[in-house]
Formats: sequence, structure tokens, C-alpha cells
Amino acid sequence: MDLNQLYRAVIMDNYKNPKNKGLNHTDDFHFVHLNNPSCGDDMNVEVKVEDGIIKDIRQDGHGCSISMSSASVMTDVLIGHTIDDALKIINDFYEMVKGNDEIDEESLGEAIAYKGVRSFPARIKCATLAWKAIEKAINEVK
Ligand code: ZN
Repeated sequence: MDLNQLYRAVIMDNYKNPKNKGLNHTDDFHFVHLNNPSCGDDMNVEVKVEDGIIKDIRQDGHGCSISMSSASVMTDVLIGHTIDDALKIINDFYEMVKGNDEIDEESLGEAIAYKGVRSFPARIKCATLAWKAIEKAINEVK
């Protein structure tokens, strides 16, 4: 299996079996909704922060396989990190999909699977939608 096949497998697996899907609608979670009109992607995220640490993230929405799978991967990568670390990882994800290789690949974990999106500029908004939503949510509770 070459790297591109591996990346595609990560994306399809997270699309078919999304992690942390479904919202809690409880007061301990902060909610943000964002959409991506260019593709019709619609994204809801919730974050639970305690003592500066991301304790939990929930995601729900509808749209293309890139946006939906990326939301699943995002939750898995960011849960357990401090707010500051999470914001750095989010920024590294943006840099990666834009084509910058000066990033901390290790902390991106499975999110590295979206590296190929740089070759498809129209899909960058799909890949980053959930990350933009959680970034907004984190900054609002910070
Ligand atoms: Zn999309």
C-alpha cells in the first residue's frame, strides 16, 4: 500500500465510521455551527474545556466525504490536548493543506491523511471546515 492509498483508507474509514458523532446539547459543551457554501457542507461542533484542557469534542453535520471524515479525525486528534497545543495543531493543519511542510507531523496524527488536499484547492475548505469550527469554539471559551 503506498502512502496515497493509506491516506485514502483513513479518509474513507472516518467517513464510514465517524468518531465522536452526535451532539450533547448540554451546558458544559460550547456549540459552533459553520458551513461551506461552495460545497454544501454543514458542520456543527461542540467542545468541553476544563482547566484549559479539551476534555471532549462532539461533531455532527452533513456534506462531502472530505469534510465529514475530517471532522471525525479532528476530534480524535484534539481531545486531551491543552487549548494552546490544540490551536497550534489546528494551525499546522491549515499550513499542511496549503502546502507548507514546516509542520509538526507527529502531533497531526491521522490528520496527515489530508496532505493531498493541497493539490485540490477547491477541497481545502472542505478539509478545514471542522477545524475552523472547533478553532472558533475554543477561542470563544478561552
Ligand atoms: Zn465538501
